[in-house]
Amino acid sequence: MRSDRIDHIGVAVKSIEERLRLYRDLLKLELTEIEELPERGLKVAFIKAGDTRIELLEPIAENSQISKFLQTKGEGIHHIAFHVDNISDAIEEALAMDMTPLSKEPQDGAGGTKIVFLHPKSTGGILVELVEGFHREGCSNG
Ligand code: ZN
Repeated sequence: MRSDRIDHIGVAVKSIEERLRLYRDLLKLELTEIEELPERGLKVAFIKAGDTRIELLEPIAENSQISKFLQTKGEGIHHIAFHVDNISDAIEEALAMDMTPLSKEPQDGAGGTKIVFLHPKSTGGILVELVEGFHREGCSNG
């Protein structure tokens, strides 16, 4: 696989609305979308920051991963997501290099993307997300 950029940085928050004071109101970054992902117990907001994005992750269910993260670690950086061209190839290559994908099949991410996470124990302590399918403005694929 070859990654050409950080697609986004995932930040766990208790309240998206509250954190928009920093990103939207103070830093004047553009809020591009808010989406609920009920199957993951999450509400996510994407904020454009040049060629990359900040993803705010707010739990909407008690048992979501983000709820557990907030309980144990509090608000803060949750994961770093790298864009890849082909998520299925990326999973196979990660496995071949003894990384630990959290699923063997790509999962549905926000905005119609395909994603997989790599376990922090295999990456030096960072929850790494691989993302296929988000294109910057100006790309024909939208
Ligand atoms: Zn993410």
